[in-house]
Formats: sequence, structure tokens, C-alpha cells
Amino acid sequence: MTRDFVHEDHPGRVVFGAGARHRLAEEVERAGLRRLLVVSTPEQADLAAAVCAPLGGRVAGLHPHAAMHVPVPVAELAIARARELTADGCLAVGGGSAIGLAKAVALRTGLPVVAVPTTYAGSEMTPIWGLSDGGRKRTGRDRVVRPRIVVYDPELTTTLPAGRSLTSGVNALAHAAEALYAHDRSPITDLVAAESVRAIADALPRVVADPHDVDARADALYGAWLAGTVLGATSMSLHHQLCHVLGGTFDLPHGATHAAVLPHVLALNLPAAPEALAALQAALGTTDPALHLFRAARRLGAEMSLKALGLPEDGLGTVVDQVVASPYANPARVTETGLRRLLGNALVGAGPA
Ligand code: NAD
Repeated sequence: MTRDFVHEDHPGRVVFGAGARHRLAEEVERAGLRRLLVVSTPEQADLAAAVCAPLGGRVAGLHPHAAMHVPVPVAELAIARARELTADGCLAVGGGSAIGLAKAVALRTGLPVVAVPTTYAGSEMTPIWGLSDGGRKRTGRDRVVRPRIVVYDPELTTTLPAGRSLTSGVNALAHAAEALYAHDRSPITDLVAAESVRAIADALPRVVADPHDVDARADALYGAWLAGTVLGATSMSLHHQLCHVLGGTFDLPHGATHAAVLPHVLALNLPAAPEALAALQAALGTTDPALHLFRAARRLGAEMSLKALGLPEDGLGTVVDQVVASPYANPARVTETGLRRLLGNALVGAGPA
């Protein structure tokens, strides 16, 4: 381990446990918040209303209009609603879309965010915001958007179907895996990321076998919390760049794309990142983490072919060009030939080279 690092901590309060949603009112009171704007997706409007019902008069209004990737008009509407209601905070109930909308409100208004996550995306632990405008996505970092209070209740995740739980879990695992070879990692992020990989890999087969197993859900959500923490503390590499390009250009599904791409990127990167390789070997109990993850994801039912997920064969060149044009920091050298080989394998769902 190279003892040369910068580590920054962000203040934040995490309340974790089965039934933790019943402690939300106490948390909101403790924080002195009196007029919350509650945001969710339309699909989770009833859940958001139920979760915040015990808050009574501390809820200024419900706004169930969150959408994937926070389109600018969706953000503007929520910001206007927060101002109209003279809200003093924004409570997000849901996955990355709801939390992303609360972050957009915070970015403009400075209001504190409280999050009750229901997926494994991890946005609640990061200072990263994102806005999409006409198909183009802008992201940035600002500590004002990082939720001040996060209430994790694994019972709220039991409604996430097995397939989406798997891809959301692999998405989280990918944050932790890339944190292990990030150029700006630290001894703390290394420990957190390795524990995250271990917890998620252990929990996902149990979650898929029984989505209502609250212990398995708690383990997966615990791993996702840790993954979100290291996502917020380090810079991601080739895997996230590829998923960003594939999602942005070809509208491939977010979580499923992570599952199909991660083993291939790890096969390329781990020989150039011996400490990450050793950490993943220990966390997963295998000598070949890339192959292990490929087989595990496929066995649990993930679609491993990018073609089946919607990438046209002739789209491969576009992806390669975009990645080569603006390279992210990455442990292994990324060449056009190497990328074509990697994507060619992922296209057809073949195992990692
Ligand atoms: P999501 O929030 O869009 O949720 C997908 C769908 O599942 C929605 O309809 C939602 O209502 C529903 N859903 C959520 N939880 C559920 C549950 N427990 N049961 C049943 N249905 C449920 O998806 P996501 O994967 O959580 O988030 C993806 C978004 O988050 C992307 O826009 C991504 O870019 C962003 N993200 C941001 C960060 C960050 O740090 N800023 C980190 C990770 C992801």
C-alpha cells in the first residue's frame, strides 16, 4: 500500500435498520426542519406519502414528479415548488431519481436534503449532482447536495423485484470495485470498498432467491451504503465511463449495463492494479474476480450481452471513439484495439478475456 493520500470526510448522519423509517419524524425534529418538500417518482408517490405521514405538519408538500437522470424541466418545477411552499428542506423517498431531484433543489436553493433510499444506487452518500438536458447529461460535485440525514430501512427495498435488485446491487458493487483502484483512493476508502464488495456479493444471491428476506436486504443495503460512500470519495475509471457512454448514447438500461460491462473492465484493469486484485480476491474468495463476477451475475439471471440490452453492432465504433477522445484516469492503458476487443466480448455476452 502506498502511504500517500488525501482523505476528506463529509459530515452526515446515517440511521440504519429494519423499520428505521419509523424514526424519520424524530430525525427531522432533531434537525429542526419544519417545512419539508417531499419528492419521489410517480410510481412511489403512495410510499412517500406513507413514509412521511408521521411527520404531520412538518411536511409542506408532496411532489411525486421525479424522473430518471433529472431532466432540467423536472428540476425547475421542483425548485419552483420548494420556493412557493417556502420549504426549509427537501426529503427524497426512493432511488437515485428521487434523490437526484432533491439534489437539484439543494444545488439551486441551498436547502438541506434528507434521504430515504429504496435502491442500491448510493446517490445519498455522494456530493455528486446530475442534470439532463435534451439527452445530454451534466454532472458536478457540490457538498451542499449531499444529504445531511440518510435513513436506511431495508424493509423498503423488499418491493424491488429480484432482477432489478440484482442489477442495482451490481451497480453498487461496481462503485466499490472501481474505488479500489481509483487514483485518489485512501486507506479508508480501500477498507470500505472491500467490505462493500464482500457484503453485496454475499447478499445478492439471497436477495434474488427471496426478495422478502429482510436480513439479506439489510446486508445488501449495508453494502450499498458503503459503495455510495466510496463513490462519493473517489474518482471512477473506465467502467463508469463506458456505462456513461452506453447509457447516454444508446439509452441502455443503467443497472443492467453495469452488470454486463464490469467483468470485462476488471479483466483489463486488475493485472495493472495488484492491490485492488488482492482486495477483490479476498472479498470474493476467488483467484479470478472478473470471471467469478461474470459467472455469478449470469447464474443469478443478469443479461450479459450488450447486444441484447440494445447496443447495435455498428454502435461499437462510436463508443470506442467517445472513450478514447476523453480518457478517464485508469490503471491499465486503454487502447482502441483493447477497447474493441473488450466491447466485442461484452456485445455477445462472452466471458471476460
Ligand atoms: P430510480 O430511482 O430511477 O428507480 C427506478 C424505478 O424503480 C423508479 O420507477 C422507482 O420509483 C422504482 N423503485 C425504486 N425503489 C423501489 C422499490 N424499493 N420498490 C419498487 N420500485 C422501486 O433508479 P436508481 O437505479 O435508484 O437510480 C438511477 C439514477 O440515479 C440514475 O439517474 C443515476 O445516474 C443516478 N445516480 C446518481 C448517483 C450520484 O451520486 N449522483 C449515484 C448513483 C446513481
